[in-house]
Amino acid sequence: MFNKLKWKLTRFMYGRYGVDQLYIASALLFIVLQVVQLFVRNSFLSVLIFGLVIWTFYRAFSKNIYARQKENQTFLKFIRAAKSKGKLFGRRMRDIGSYRYRKCSACHTTLRLPRKRGQHKARCPKCGHLLEVKIWV
Ligand SMILES: [Zn+2]
Repeated sequence: MFNKLKWKLTRFMYGRYGVDQLYIASALLFIVLQVVQLFVRNSFLSVLIFGLVIWTFYRAFSKNIYARQKENQTFLKFIRAAKSKGKLFGRRMRDIGSYRYRKCSACHTTLRLPRKRGQHKARCPKCGHLLEVKIWV
């Protein structure tokens, strides 16, 4: 009985997109929104949750695999960028007592400079550009 059901499901999902990282993220968002709805009764939120569920299932059962993969890649790119920004911010906060971060005006590389008050000159290790650095605090 169980095997028959499994086989039917496998056959139904054949050629369909299925589950990816964006699916998991929207499922997590669904759970979060459900919890929020316990405290905030809002008809807009209900519509939003309903739309999210419809969209999530639409993506999983979609036969346009290429378009769904593209959506997932865009999502992953966004997540990677956010993670990298968060990491840099965390490092800046840890170093706030002893370092200052400045961008090279020539190649836009972020440089970590020792916190010495006043005006200094620093050479970018990547492109060799000599830049003026002002550190006041
Ligand atoms: Zn540079």
